[in-house]
Amino acid sequence: MPLHFHNTLSRKLEEFIPLEPGKARLYTCGPTVYNFAHIGNFRAYIFEDLLRRTLAYCGFKVTQVMNLTDVDDKTIRGARQAGLPLDQFTRQFKDAFFADLKTLRIEPAEFYPAATGCIPEMIRMIEVLIEKKHAYVGDDKSVYFSIASFPRYGQLARLNRDEMRVGVRIKHDEYAKESVADFALWKAWDEADGEVKWDSPWGPGRPGWHIECSAMSMKHLGPTFDLHTGGVDNLFPHHEDEIAQSEAANGVKFVNYWLHCAHLMVEGQKMSKSMGNFFTLRDVVAKGWTGREIRWVLLGTHYRQQLDFSFQGCHNARAALQRVDDFKTRLQEAAALPDADTTGVAARLTAAEAEFRAGLEDDINLSAALAALFNLVRDVNRMLDAGELAGKPAAAVAELLRTLDTVLGVLDVDQAGADAPADILALAQERQDARKAKNFARADEIRKLLAARGWILEDTPQGPRVKRQAG
Ligand code: AMP
Ligand code: ZN
Repeated sequence: MPLHFHNTLSRKLEEFIPLEPGKARLYTCGPTVYNFAHIGNFRAYIFEDLLRRTLAYCGFKVTQVMNLTDVDDKTIRGARQAGLPLDQFTRQFKDAFFADLKTLRIEPAEFYPAATGCIPEMIRMIEVLIEKKHAYVGDDKSVYFSIASFPRYGQLARLNRDEMRVGVRIKHDEYAKESVADFALWKAWDEADGEVKWDSPWGPGRPGWHIECSAMSMKHLGPTFDLHTGGVDNLFPHHEDEIAQSEAANGVKFVNYWLHCAHLMVEGQKMSKSMGNFFTLRDVVAKGWTGREIRWVLLGTHYRQQLDFSFQGCHNARAALQRVDDFKTRLQEAAALPDADTTGVAARLTAAEAEFRAGLEDDINLSAALAALFNLVRDVNRMLDAGELAGKPAAAVAELLRTLDTVLGVLDVDQAGADAPADILALAQERQDARKAKNFARADEIRKLLAARGWILEDTPQGPRVKRQAG
């Protein structure tokens, strides 16, 4: 089966056919940099990373754009409260965001445009909308999109046109479906904006949140592109408004496939800053969980289903990854032995990869893909128990894990122990150096130091490795 996605626009499963064969152009709404991102936000970014890696695994060359919303109602409010200029205030959260992406092994996008770097493009797009009579300047000198001018308004969120409050204007970036109205493209400066303002044909002001994504996607991906994603809370009004602005300005279809991930929940509630029920990635890392473990937790449920976050889930992730690591160790040991393959492992590997791929092609059904992996692990463990697999055929299993890990980003086939904290790795290295220098007393001492901190050293044919003590 070729690659299929559930398209929010049609509410149907559709085969993915890109505009240009072999290429996938993807826009993912990025963070509003007014705070540290919480792990609910990272569920969305992990889903997008999985999408990106799935596209690449299925042979597409991906161009991904993720914007940084560094001017909007929330960033301006935050900067004022902190008593900092806007760019200084947002800089710290941009830096933190990129560090967090690394922690979670999220592959970098090709472009990370910042809204404040694309103001001329936004102004130009608003001018076009005014020229085409899809937008008007209000008596408050702000510019609004006229939803009455765009009959397709509401297609993504499936809004009832009769319930729209035509001619009523809304200036906030975020509003509920019940308040659907003409929304702000350009917001005239007012005192609450402080120093934050740009000149425009309509006087000083700043862009609305929605126009930012329309202008930034067009800048890097053109007027029409393949895929656009975000969390379900972005569907309305943000994505609905993006479609209206882009299609009204450019006169062509904006996006072919819309994918939305369901929320990360805590005790039945959406994790969100406003509810106060959130953990930043840093909070969870400070409790002793690694980026690899948190990534595993966030990958754990199909992207269109809600995922309940709990620390029990982190414990389960740790146990699952420990089994993966033990399996890798066994494979490495077996690979160092003379060749043996009495069961024809090659055919088993081909079948496992086909199953893995079929899972991904079915709207990124990761649990089906992982079932293929874990069934393989079970079968190979049996072969290893029976002494039926060694040498090059065992290495071939590790090779398949490497391939699957281009999608998963958690197996770490060649870096056992690499997830240990830096000071633990430094101690392990020091012990290795001590042994080389034949200072066995020091080497033993370090082994005990590591044990006291919950890490064991294992000497394997590939060299020493650190492993978390069981229990
Ligand atoms: P924001 O910084 O609020 O614009 O959100 C950034 C991204 O995180 C958007 O794609 C949101 O849809 C997504 N998001 C926010 N909260 C959650 C959550 N609890 N679960 C999943 N995604 C979320
Ligand atoms: Zn957006």
